[in-house]
Amino acid sequence: MTVEGSSIDPSRPSIARVYDYLLGGKDNYASDREVGDVFKRDLPGSVAIAFANRAALTRAVAEIATTTGIRQFVDLGSGLPTADNVHQVAQRHAPESRVVYVDIDPQVLVHGRALLEQNDRTRVVRADVRDPEGVRNHPDTLELIDFDRPVAVMFSAILHHVNDEEDPAGIVRHWRDHVAAGSYFFVSHFRSGNNPETEEAERVLQQTFGRGRWRTDKEIEALLDGLEILEPGIVPASLWRPETVESPWGDGGGEQELTVWQRLIAAGLARKV
Ligand code: SAM
Repeated sequence: MTVEGSSIDPSRPSIARVYDYLLGGKDNYASDREVGDVFKRDLPGSVAIAFANRAALTRAVAEIATTTGIRQFVDLGSGLPTADNVHQVAQRHAPESRVVYVDIDPQVLVHGRALLEQNDRTRVVRADVRDPEGVRNHPDTLELIDFDRPVAVMFSAILHHVNDEEDPAGIVRHWRDHVAAGSYFFVSHFRSGNNPETEEAERVLQQTFGRGRWRTDKEIEALLDGLEILEPGIVPASLWRPETVESPWGDGGGEQELTVWQRLIAAGLARKV
């Protein structure tokens, strides 16, 4: 599978740049801010969702780095560099950790090379996650990741950008079947629910980017078929191990009453036995 559109097009909004805008970043253009502002106006919880997601990802990386011997991460659909990227969190706890960032957006490669490849333990690969074999066998991936040893595969806010006919379960299965036992899988994912906010948010996302599929917790669980889903299961991202406070994005909210928006994104961690 080829990666289309090798140049940055500021006139068309990109998922990576709109997300960067919602997180308060500066790597975005007017077209992205326009869409971001529609999100903020029509979906007032967009920023809360982005922060809750980022906080859960940060906590998951910290958990993996501190409670397992895993020292290598593949971050699929990594996004533009932001505060506390995966390698910064992992290397804070385990300096020898290696991280491969993967994204389809050309801007991630440009900014990522400058900001994410800060040392010889990080790489940025421009590739399509729908081609897991291509990602896994990319020379930069192979340079850093030893697939004979357990690895953490991060699917953070990426699988809801993969439509059903593109076989998201098959993508996860490919990784599951080609990593060592003891490997970890983190997933965060937009969550379907029978409420108007969810339906509106899904509609806006699909209209803006021409794709996107929100899934129920059961459907998200099914994506992790054959893996052991660890406690507390697939839950709203803010409730995923909130006690692991490790983030400039906040502590996830803990047990406090979640807003309907914070319930729109789920997170979970699984292990290959
Ligand atoms: N993983 C980060 C996080 O959770 O904070 C960023 C998530 S952002 C919402 C989704 C990212 O996935 C964007 O940077 C976008 O460019 C990337 N993306 C979307 N479709 C992709 C694909 N088919 N292959 C690789 N990256 C993709």
